[in-house]
Amino acid sequence: MRIAILALQGAFAEHEQMMRKLGVETFEVRQAADWEQPKDGLIIPGGESTVMLKLLHELNLFEPIKRDIERGLPVYGTCAGLILLSKEVENANTPYERFATMNIRTCRNAYGRQTGSFFTTASMKGIAKPVPMTFIRAPYIDSVGEGVEVLAEVDGHIVAAKQGKQLVTAFHPELGEDTRVHELFINLIT
Ligand code: GLN
Repeated sequence: MRIAILALQGAFAEHEQMMRKLGVETFEVRQAADWEQPKDGLIIPGGESTVMLKLLHELNLFEPIKRDIERGLPVYGTCAGLILLSKEVENANTPYERFATMNIRTCRNAYGRQTGSFFTTASMKGIAKPVPMTFIRAPYIDSVGEGVEVLAEVDGHIVAAKQGKQLVTAFHPELGEDTRVHELFINLIT
């Protein structure tokens, strides 16, 4: 198995480390030519969604990636990655088109400045015991549409969801030691 990791900006190195721990091969996607490589899935890391989108469009990566996700390439988006996959976004603050492949409505920078970054543990569907969750200027999912399964909620807000082979979390499992969310993604592929 070989996983592409979008490496334009943000916390991509931490996802690579997680995959290494799980014995899964990865490669970084920094320009259009990288996307030609064979792959079984894609991780879109956290970072700044506005910057990531601008770079995706400028580097001509947007169209080929969107097409492959629409054709069923498994994808895991954390935080900014979740924003990029959302059909609708409140406070998107960018003129650039998103992948918009997931039937979810997301509120960006949802927790405001004071509470934007916090740590908690909560249960997540498909994972046996509570999962550590680190939130950094996180979004949350306001509402989900057809075909979307809610996997986790914190304080009444949806923070993890799945639609087909698309997985999103508003939190950052790659910043901790717990590999179970990444394993969930790998299981989605195989
Ligand atoms: N607030 C960021 C954004 O809007 C997301 C934060 C993150 O990815 N940690 O893109």
